[in-house]
Amino acid sequence: MNNDIMTGLFKPKSIAVVGASATPGKIGYTVLKNLIDSQYTGKIYPINPTADEILGIKAYASVMDVPGEIDAAAITVPAKLTLQVTEECGKKGIKGLIIITSGFSEVGNHELEEQIVETAKRYGSRILGPNIVGVLSNADHMNASFAPFLPMVGKAALISQSGALLIAMDAASYTRKVGFDKLVSIGNMSDVDFADIISCLNDDENTSCITLYIEGIRDGRKFMDACKNATKPIIALKSGTSSHGAAAAASHTGSLAGAAKVYGAAFKQSGIIQASDLNNLFDRTQALSLQPPMNGDNLLIITNGGGVGVLATDAAERDGIPLKFAPKEVQDEMKKHMPEFGSAKNPVDLTGMAGTEWYTESVQFALDHSWVDGLVVLYCETAMTNPIEIAKGIKRAVDAAKTKDKPIVVSAVGGEKSDAAIQWLLENGIPAYNSPEVAINAMAALREQAKAKITVAEKFKPYGDYDKETALKVIKKAREDGRESLTEIEAKQIFEAYGLPTTKGLLAKSEAEAVEFAKKIGYPVVMKIVSPEILHKSDAGGVKVNIKDDAAAREAYNVILANAKNYKSDANIHGILVQEMAPWGTEVILGSINDATFGPTMMFGLGGIFVEVLKDVTFRVSPVSENQALIMLDEIRGAPILAGVRGEAPRDKEAMANAVCRYSSMILDLKDEISESDANPVLVYEKGKGIKIVDARVILKKK
Ligand code: ADP
Ligand code: MG
Repeated sequence: MNNDIMTGLFKPKSIAVVGASATPGKIGYTVLKNLIDSQYTGKIYPINPTADEILGIKAYASVMDVPGEIDAAAITVPAKLTLQVTEECGKKGIKGLIIITSGFSEVGNHELEEQIVETAKRYGSRILGPNIVGVLSNADHMNASFAPFLPMVGKAALISQSGALLIAMDAASYTRKVGFDKLVSIGNMSDVDFADIISCLNDDENTSCITLYIEGIRDGRKFMDACKNATKPIIALKSGTSSHGAAAAASHTGSLAGAAKVYGAAFKQSGIIQASDLNNLFDRTQALSLQPPMNGDNLLIITNGGGVGVLATDAAERDGIPLKFAPKEVQDEMKKHMPEFGSAKNPVDLTGMAGTEWYTESVQFALDHSWVDGLVVLYCETAMTNPIEIAKGIKRAVDAAKTKDKPIVVSAVGGEKSDAAIQWLLENGIPAYNSPEVAINAMAALREQAKAKITVAEKFKPYGDYDKETALKVIKKAREDGRESLTEIEAKQIFEAYGLPTTKGLLAKSEAEAVEFAKKIGYPVVMKIVSPEILHKSDAGGVKVNIKDDAAAREAYNVILANAKNYKSDANIHGILVQEMAPWGTEVILGSINDATFGPTMMFGLGGIFVEVLKDVTFRVSPVSENQALIMLDEIRGAPILAGVRGEAPRDKEAMANAVCRYSSMILDLKDEISESDANPVLVYEKGKGIKIVDARVILKKK
């Protein structure tokens, strides 16, 4: 399948331009002209029913009339003609249809889009688009698009869901000196999607980094799989992070999940490196396309200025690669390339006296020393040094170093001469930036790439003790009652079936039963209203904790009942739950949503009644391995609370991670049934003492 996409869309030996025109200004003219101007070496066939030749090339009335084989068709005819053209292209055996024409699903014309996809499928043709700018490839001298020229030559490949942005990045590639081999406009993704192109470009010898601009993905799991299987770095910028998921908010999790969070989780789990904005996408792409990953935490900084050194140190900490002092042998060697008042620690400050030689010698040593995992070289323009000479010295060191698999990134701060040095370095394969922070962030991307590989290699091992049958029975019963919202008792039965520890309880239907059950469970107890119509029990005055004796149990029974009736007079009340009172613990939340793109997705965070205020939560697409779960626990702002602060014993993170894992299995296993769920709060005890879920909520999918 990749082969068809490769020859049909990215490396065709022949292209028909369907709708080719001799009138400047028309897209059919521009695309043909661009193909010619880009010096495409394959055969070009202009297709136009009324012209004999266009721009000096023989034209045909239809692709069917072309004598030879055709690999690709760039289609620019009006939307209403595309169905017929697709049919003809299919009959002709054309593998790839680059449908530039707009006027399909993006304006609500879903039917026509479905028809062209169906037709293409019948003949085994693949469609890129519709509603795209086209495809540009430097390796194949092919500008099959209406973007004005091929991008600056390089090894990155951009797949963009925005056509306008693709054209802008094409032009910006020259000013920003970020080289691309391919630019692919993906448009409506009626057939070929991100996943297809990623798999294809992962096998492309001219691509070293895959850069994505994403607005929205349809099949999240397919996308994740393609990214996980890719060996090349993938970097993504996701836009549109505002209102996603806001519609479904019956649970705490539903109200806290947003596109940024869910996409961010999916990216992390699939080994995708994230860009925070457009500039960042360019800067990180540059480093990822030119340098190997940073396979360890030891970052060394060499500088000639203390100021940029400190700025870089701050940035390194912010970006997750905090500096460590270099070992003595590294320091001893560095001292040979600096004056007495220099510093050999980290950053290595060669001082303003540093000339080309000191830079060259220290860079070469650092690259070859086993302690160093990545090297950032900072330069501040001085009156005594020539930036371009320094740049050339750095390059000499890189060439002379025996180690070739270690990343190096440069920052040169100064004026025109420094800018020229940056340009020279870029042309010679060394990422270079005009600020220390950006250089560090680019190195951080290379570190993230190495870490991403480890994450992706992790395998999820489900526990073998799940009781799906019991869970389904509980769900079936609620559905028979015509309910989508489960009571706490039912939700806990499902949780227990997946090995999640919950508080034990008994449902009392009378005051006498309440007392009897409280005795059985043992004081103190908690009593709660059980009604499918009262989701937030405390709001209805439906929870009483720390009930210590028979009299209090009797009173609580009556008060809760009265409160509930007061809150909702016609509420269907199942009874009053008498529950063991769990000892105090750190309150956290586990929850899930069934995301439209990625399916069952879970949340962990600091919980309790303040969860919506604190918003200290993190997400993962299900399933979640125990190791990923531990990373989740460390990711929230409140992580130190779990680690044990202010004399508190550390919390039982292992038991918590185990619960995250089980919960993630549960929502995946029951993805056809459960829409949203929460365990809030979950109480986490001291290390070794486990956890307890004291409240549970499950909302079923509408059927
Ligand atoms: P809701 O969230 O519907 O208002 P909960 O069952 O979460 O109701 O109860 C409200 C609060 O009471 C909880 O956040 C928790 O602090 C406390 N609580 C509830 N059940 C127990 C229990 N079994 N043991 C200890 N505390 C409990
Ligand atoms: Mg609760």
